[in-house]
Amino acid sequence: MEGVQIKAGRAIGYYRRSQQKQLQSPVQDGGSTQSAKAESGEPETASTPARKRIGTMKSSTAKFVTITSVPFEENAYLAYLPTRSDCVVFDPGLEPEKIVAAIEERKLEVAAILCTHGHADHIAGNRALKERWPDAPLIIGSGDANKLTDAVENLSAGFGMNMTSPPADQTVDEGDVLEFAGFRFEVLETPGHSSGHVVFVASELSPIQVLGGDVLFSGSVGRTDLPGCSFEVLERSIREKLYPLPDDTVVLPGHGPTTTIGEEKRTNPFVEAES
Ligand SMILES: [Zn+2]
Repeated sequence: MEGVQIKAGRAIGYYRRSQQKQLQSPVQDGGSTQSAKAESGEPETASTPARKRIGTMKSSTAKFVTITSVPFEENAYLAYLPTRSDCVVFDPGLEPEKIVAAIEERKLEVAAILCTHGHADHIAGNRALKERWPDAPLIIGSGDANKLTDAVENLSAGFGMNMTSPPADQTVDEGDVLEFAGFRFEVLETPGHSSGHVVFVASELSPIQVLGGDVLFSGSVGRTDLPGCSFEVLERSIREKLYPLPDDTVVLPGHGPTTTIGEEKRTNPFVEAES
């Protein structure tokens, strides 16, 4: 699985396993966050090995829009470049109509739907997004793909929802790289909150942006009291995968406000940085 390859037979963006690609971080314009709010959440951990930063894109040029659904205060994100007409959607949860509206008002098309993990509050909008943009591949870590179509595994059954998502079009593993809508996202496996949890690292942006799901939150971590969770595993994910990232790395979490790796290393009460 080395090198460039089309994994899902689709031509929208290509998927390849990075052999040893460096994360690059272009300048990002920080992105614009609209309608973001939400906090709460679940604790979790993420881990990311130290990677190189080779900034090639300014993060200021990238836009990140937060759409928070009310029931679980879950954050979905849109990522797009103003110079393009497509976008990437992360973790479309409940109230997908708000996500669709945010996309349509910007006159964007969805190039891909990326899920950090398969819990119901992060995948409940997949079906609506796929119905509206059927060509957009639905992508999730291979370890959580089964949760998409299993209401018990995705925990919706426990809430009386019995919700399922369309199946994954592609699955990803550690080191894979996804390129969609002008972005490059490196995949890091960060289990603990969910066994197949992954985060998507926009390493070409400067500062780096991490679509972090339920691993590391502002002042908290993903919850580990649910079936399949492990705090020890989560803590290792955070220490080994996320904390090695540059301090100015921005984490766009699945719940709550945006934070940075440096801030959490200094102040997070659940996973202290090792000195
Ligand atoms: Zn979750």
